[in-house]
Amino acid sequence: MVLERPGTPLAEVERPDPAPGPGQVQVRVAACGVCRTDLHVVDGDLTEPRLPVVPGHEIVGRVSALGDGVGDFAIGDRVGIPWLGHTCGHCFYCEHDAENLCDEPGFTGYQIDGGYAEMTVADARYCFALPVDGEDSALAPLLCAGLIGYRSLVMAGDDAKRLGIYGFGAAAHILAQVATRQGRDIYAFTSPGDTAAQAFARELGAAWAGGSDEASPVELDAAIIFAPVGPLVPAALAAVRKGGTVVCGGIHMSDIPAFPYSILWGERTVRSVANLTRRDAIEFLELAPKVPVKTHVVEYPLAQANAALDDLRAGRLSGAAVLIP
Ligand SMILES: [Zn+2]
Ligand SMILES: [Zn+2]
Repeated sequence: MVLERPGTPLAEVERPDPAPGPGQVQVRVAACGVCRTDLHVVDGDLTEPRLPVVPGHEIVGRVSALGDGVGDFAIGDRVGIPWLGHTCGHCFYCEHDAENLCDEPGFTGYQIDGGYAEMTVADARYCFALPVDGEDSALAPLLCAGLIGYRSLVMAGDDAKRLGIYGFGAAAHILAQVATRQGRDIYAFTSPGDTAAQAFARELGAAWAGGSDEASPVELDAAIIFAPVGPLVPAALAAVRKGGTVVCGGIHMSDIPAFPYSILWGERTVRSVANLTRRDAIEFLELAPKVPVKTHVVEYPLAQANAALDDLRAGRLSGAAVLIP
């Protein structure tokens, strides 16, 4: 399923199997999660795609061929392919343990063909071995929603006991399980009136769930915003205590309105989380089975990718959409 031009539906295209180049693995896709970032690529909010491009960066599949020089994987291995598909290795960020901020990155499903396909190729250095247990489709959302949620949780701080989550979709439903297991209390803020999402949050252990137009019932230690809605930044800032952090976990957000300095005062921090490092993935993929994280997925046949994107855009999903080729 190929994006030829932003703002248009994906087109179903027949292509020959991609051959793995040096250092690459060829992977037969078993499942690929649908991430909000895919929507931002398809809708043109993200302006640097390499077109035409196959979206999808939550790929679970099995290695079907090895390029020259690949030693870490064997044919048949189940692997995960995430958003971070390439880094330069020599910029300031790569040299300072922050490859997620690389100046010359390549992202899967954006500049590198991704997993809305039956087969793909990827640089083996950015692929991960996956736990032996678990359905392919259940693991797919871990590869972005899970990873970004985990990185956001780390940025929220170890001392964030009372944690607000704004936007209760794929990332939040995984994060809530990890955070409650760590003994944190989750306060889930959904779109106003989205009682289904609020019930879902309570099912997953949230101490409280309500609309983002409601005042938080407690002063929060930190908040994580997944919804791409700029006005949530001042709303979250007003809800966190002195010294608390507001983490913006999405890649794109509508403009943040002006707000009074008093809600930032008191050494509150607003920060974003960008992409992931390979170390985040290794840590999180080790942690997830221990929680254990149980993902709630809605499967769509690959050819229904446009319907899955529409459902995500319209907020009709609870949990994560996954495409099955
Ligand atoms: Zn770099
Ligand atoms: Zn993603």
